[in-house]
Amino acid sequence: MNIHEYQAKELLKTCDVATDAGFMAQSAGDVEKRLGEVHGPPWVIKAQVHSGGRGKAGGIKLARDQAEAFGFANQILGMTLVTAQTGAKGRIVRKILVAEAAKVDKEYYLSLLIDRAAASYVFVGSTEGGVEIEKVAAETPDAIARVYVDPLSGFRTYHAAEMARKLGFSGDLPAGCSLSSPKRMFGSAQAGPLASIGLAKQLSAIMAGMFKLFVEKDASLVEINPLVKTKEGKLLAIDAKVNFDDNGLARHPDIAALRDVGEEDPNEAQASKHDLSYIKLDGTIGCLVNGAGLAMATMDIVKHYGGSPANFLDVGGSASIEKVTEAFKIILSDSAVKGILVNIFGGIMKCDVIAEGIVAASKTLGVKVPIVARLDGTNVEQGKRILADSGLNIIPAGSLAEAAELIVKEAGRF
Ligand code: GDP
Ligand code: MN
Repeated sequence: MNIHEYQAKELLKTCDVATDAGFMAQSAGDVEKRLGEVHGPPWVIKAQVHSGGRGKAGGIKLARDQAEAFGFANQILGMTLVTAQTGAKGRIVRKILVAEAAKVDKEYYLSLLIDRAAASYVFVGSTEGGVEIEKVAAETPDAIARVYVDPLSGFRTYHAAEMARKLGFSGDLPAGCSLSSPKRMFGSAQAGPLASIGLAKQLSAIMAGMFKLFVEKDASLVEINPLVKTKEGKLLAIDAKVNFDDNGLARHPDIAALRDVGEEDPNEAQASKHDLSYIKLDGTIGCLVNGAGLAMATMDIVKHYGGSPANFLDVGGSASIEKVTEAFKIILSDSAVKGILVNIFGGIMKCDVIAEGIVAASKTLGVKVPIVARLDGTNVEQGKRILADSGLNIIPAGSLAEAAELIVKEAGRF
């Protein structure tokens, strides 16, 4: 699950990560009422959509006075923002963040995620932060620093010391020293507001907070881009992105409550409401399958016969007629779908229940696209009879291979 920048910053604040002060607004009226709460001018007015690249797309503006702040708020709210990540359709902006504008001296990149291959957490940092981090990673991979954190040790200040050294915050920090006893380690090096030890200590606090948030809330990504060094020598998170592991949400009602379904694919949101696992893909063959493994195999075999799946959809092991109807509705609401392949193995699930679901859904929804159904397992004979007696044009198939070949052919004709 994804959340907005303003929510990510609120969470980071609770973990003592320094961020810029600001508030979320949904109308120019909100901005008028609350602008006085935030130090400025200047202020930054930032589109809140689940996408990066907002700056380049015109979703982030610097307002130099109140009139500009209201003007930009009006301009950004309601606009369709097309970023490098949204696709051509873009996203309608419904919320903005109004924040105090930081006096940026330099922009850095800092994130925390899991490196599965290394079975470790990894902090990724770069001195080349800002809006081009993907380009930096692709063209100058040496500019990307990694610090691995063993899950058994957890975060330690030596991890921060290592990242500080890599980001150039450590001055003449001797190799292997820690940040936990800075007096002994650095002596008089602390003098002056921009002394590198000040930055290294700030970095350590930020990394500790990111780690706490990540572990305690089952995050899958905590990213700060840019992390800025201000002209006053302060490290501040001025953009933040946090993703959560969906499977951990049941343990965190506070995090689940941050969900903004307006930002999700409407079909995916609808599916999750009915406990269906649905992921939209860009092909033309709708797939209705029970079991994730079977769904993967079905997608593979559709490809094998020259077709392309329009979705992954697992109705689960114990789907009811209502659930099957809902699944059909979701598949059919995708205008790219030219045919539906139903592939059900009746284990716990009974084929006759699925068949009734297909018939009920086809009747209520008035399905026009061809449907090929391959049923096998528990109550398969009853299931096949229900389909045959329905009077609907549902093409039965014996094997999965036959079913895939048939639907690719039928969809091609439709
Ligand atoms: P993104 O484009 O969606 O990643 O949005 P960001 O919040 O990262 O903003 C993009 C860029 O706008 C940043 O890299 C900064 O250069 C600039 N920016 C954002 N907030 C501020 C701010 O408070 N002060 C200044 N000076 N620049 C900012
Ligand atoms: Mn950013």
